[in-house]
Amino acid sequence: MLIIGTKVFFWGSETTTELLRCGTCGTQAQFIQRTGMRFLVFFFIIPTIPLSGKMHVLECPQCKTRYARK
Ligand SMILES: [Zn+2]
Repeated sequence: MLIIGTKVFFWGSETTTELLRCGTCGTQAQFIQRTGMRFLVFFFIIPTIPLSGKMHVLECPQCKTRYARK
């Protein structure tokens, strides 16, 4: 039974000031800016050791597709 895994946690709910177009659903809207980090987790619940630096992504409010922010 696998009890150790990795999971990316995201937080933050600020919206962009400019309108962006989603490449997946075509919606033009203010995207949600989120920060995420990958953690080593036990039992898929408890985040323990951060495995990566912070990642900044933009999330489409319509279809929830996440885009890496350059
Ligand atoms: Zn979308």
